[in-house]
Amino acid sequence: MASARTKDDPKATAITIPVAEGDDPWTDEEVEEIRQELMADIARMERAIEVAEAGLADLFEEGTDGAGRDPADVGSSNFERDQEMSLAQNARDMLEQAQLAYRMFESGEYGTCETCGQPIGKDRLQVFPRATMCVTCKQREERR
Ligand SMILES: [Zn+2]
Repeated sequence: MASARTKDDPKATAITIPVAEGDDPWTDEEVEEIRQELMADIARMERAIEVAEAGLADLFEEGTDGAGRDPADVGSSNFERDQEMSLAQNARDMLEQAQLAYRMFESGEYGTCETCGQPIGKDRLQVFPRATMCVTCKQREERR
């Protein structure tokens, strides 16, 4: 099969991810796993957004011909709508995060904390491939 790849570098795994002190260096397989994981995340979030948006469209449609409905029904469909909206918002946030991580991956910045510039650490990235901040900075941010 002829490759359509036009990049100068034929090796897809020429990416080096920094490690924290005491971590083993990343193997090509581990790097590839992260890449797969990020791509799967992006695909999953895009689907989740579609589903949530389709659900929202349905709910809004229901809302327009809901004249004469029981107020309790209206209340529960408002609740449903809020739920769908926050689902869609969550998925969008996660998609953005996954896309950012993937871009950093491709540009070779992946694995470096975007706040302090220290290695994020292998353990954390393997559990949470979307991480773009080290644990310390993340906790500091969440406390704000
Ligand atoms: Zn940091």
